[in-house]
Amino acid sequence: MFDSLSDRLGGVFDRLRGRGALTEADVRTAMREVRVALLEADVALPVARQFVDKVTEEAVGQNVLRSVTPGQQVVKIVNDALVEMLGADASELDLSVTPPAVVMMVGLQGSGKTTTTAKIAKRLAAGVGGRDRKKVLMASLDVNRPNAQEQLATLGTQVEVATLPIVPGQQPVDIARRALQAAKLQGYDVLMLDTAGRLHVDQALMDEMKAVAEIATPQEILLVVDSLTGQDAVNVAQNFSEQVPLTGVVLTRMDGDARGGAALSMRAVTGKPIKFAGTGEKMDALEAFHPSRVAGRILGMGDVVSLVERAAESIQQEDAERMTARLAKGQFDMNDLRGQLQQMRRMGGLGALAGMMPGMKKAQGALATAGGDKMLIHMDAMIGSMTVKERTKPELINAKRKIRIAKGSGTTVQEVNKLLKMHQEMSTAMKKIKKMGGLKGMMAMLG
Ligand code: GDP
Repeated sequence: MFDSLSDRLGGVFDRLRGRGALTEADVRTAMREVRVALLEADVALPVARQFVDKVTEEAVGQNVLRSVTPGQQVVKIVNDALVEMLGADASELDLSVTPPAVVMMVGLQGSGKTTTTAKIAKRLAAGVGGRDRKKVLMASLDVNRPNAQEQLATLGTQVEVATLPIVPGQQPVDIARRALQAAKLQGYDVLMLDTAGRLHVDQALMDEMKAVAEIATPQEILLVVDSLTGQDAVNVAQNFSEQVPLTGVVLTRMDGDARGGAALSMRAVTGKPIKFAGTGEKMDALEAFHPSRVAGRILGMGDVVSLVERAAESIQQEDAERMTARLAKGQFDMNDLRGQLQQMRRMGGLGALAGMMPGMKKAQGALATAGGDKMLIHMDAMIGSMTVKERTKPELINAKRKIRIAKGSGTTVQEVNKLLKMHQEMSTAMKKIKKMGGLKGMMAMLG
């Protein structure tokens, strides 16, 4: 999910970030590409348009373009807008009522409603996420589909959650009433009602939902939609949200190859947060939905925002100033590299940071697979094994010296070569940045 969207956006932003200065036209071109990428991911047209307008306005309107890192700033604006689009305040279930709290599940047939009911029940019963374990009762109100009630009973046995005994022939509203009574009498914390689905949205279904909701006064009404159905999922959600007071959405089949449009449009169209994502058929394949993580995944750069924030926190002003002065002269030796590496370690990781550093983008994959922090420690050891002269003049390091450095640091000549190559690339990049006048901004980012 989100892979092709992520690739497309990645391309757009690499181009933006690759430049020192940006013009308004650059941003507008990039945003046109973003809009096409969103539409291809099946994001609803008005949502895509609104998104791009908002981002463009922010990106060209403020001092972003005159800033020292315009590309990076634009990406941050996009990131923030994505989080907002996904529902910044998304939360898990609110069950803070006098028990039993009723959770009503609604949705079309085949959307994964019954499966999700059992998944959520299991999660609540197990107290996932540091919550109190709940005593949960499930009841199926689906009298249309043959065996629907038995299906829930079977899942209940599987996840070790009680289900309401089946009374053949009883109608949904009566079942709801009986379930509520049982939950009250038997001291359940949560009652989950799995309602009947239909193949399409129809009035009889909506009336039934409303009648059940009136009896059961649910604390949460969750709409289950299949993310693979793309635009249809959004239309269904809109229909439901107009008639039933939904409190949230569960998107199923996020493990499939949906293009992501449903997830991205859902909040804007229904005004309701996505609370969970179903990620498989197994009973534990359910995740709380975190907009910021999903946005990070879409932008393919982990959590760039918190990285920048963390960088700002861990920068030591003096170091930054000393480095700035050196780099302004185009100087970047092994001591500088070592300083940068140590800072990265303080900031908690190499793989993610490497992608943000000019000249290290290419090394990122290799670094990540080499096992992040271990690599940092090795590099530090290698620089530690260099003589003072070698550190200031790395070009002195010939084959013989490499063998000595490798031995001294408990690494290999190959690793020494990699380190030298990285230094070379960074040094070149620093010179380029200096020429573009973007040094100050980069330093602000790196420390
Ligand atoms: P209902 O008619 O809405 O109650 O749908 P069901 O709960 O019976 O689910 C229909 C099918 O979808 C079942 O085979 C489920 O195992 C499957 N399913 C449900 N959620 C997910 C999901 O998140 N991922 C995948 N891969 N399959 C799912």
